[in-house]
Amino acid sequence: SKRYDSGYEALSDVSFHMGAGEMAFLTGRSGAGKSTLVKMIYGLYRPDEGEIRIKGETVRLSGPREAIRRGVGMVHQHFQLVPVFTVAENVILGNEPRKLSFIEKRKAIKEVTALAEKHGMAVDPKALVRDLPVGAQQRVEILKALYRQADILIMDEPTAVLTPQETDELLKTMKGFAANGVAVIFITHKLREVLAIADKIEVLRSGKVVGTTTPA
Ligand code: ADP
Repeated sequence: SKRYDSGYEALSDVSFHMGAGEMAFLTGRSGAGKSTLVKMIYGLYRPDEGEIRIKGETVRLSGPREAIRRGVGMVHQHFQLVPVFTVAENVILGNEPRKLSFIEKRKAIKEVTALAEKHGMAVDPKALVRDLPVGAQQRVEILKALYRQADILIMDEPTAVLTPQETDELLKTMKGFAANGVAVIFITHKLREVLAIADKIEVLRSGKVVGTTTPA
């Protein structure tokens, strides 16, 4: 359960679990509590009641840094990239931008190329982030999480900013993550996406889980 300072109970006795290699969709109308739930998993908010367990261990997440350390990655609706840096620099440096030496740069490009290839994601590591279309910027955010070895990947309405073709590509990429054992939590209210690839669908309404189901 989670109450905001206003006293509003954004989540009430919500139970949610998933396993490695699963793709779980959180859906429900705006204000249902979806973001609040994933922000707790990412350490941005703390639950008022209840607990979070990751890989069998009860955790008290002090913040995103701790969540990342435990393998949780999150791709926000608003990207947190440094526009004047390259793709490789953004992936390697994350939230502490600085200039890379020539040798570090070469290494970064190699690592990011390998990571992108492994997951079948099209990006140019040398491109400046500011020159990239939205879909490619999103891939950089995802690579950032994977580079930090996220095996629980949260995507908060990732398709809201994408074209239908980019959406199809993203769904395909995410299927690949799940096949590689990554647990993917995906927020959307577009039914087409849910039905295409979900293992599990959780429907939230007014801070409560009102349905746990499968596409079938
Ligand atoms: P969803 O992601 O399903 O749209 P949210 O988790 O963002 O839902 O919001 C759930 C409820 O909590 C909404 O009524 C929203 O107005 C409220 N809420 C969200 N964030 C805050 C906040 N930081 N402070 C106060 N109320 C908030």
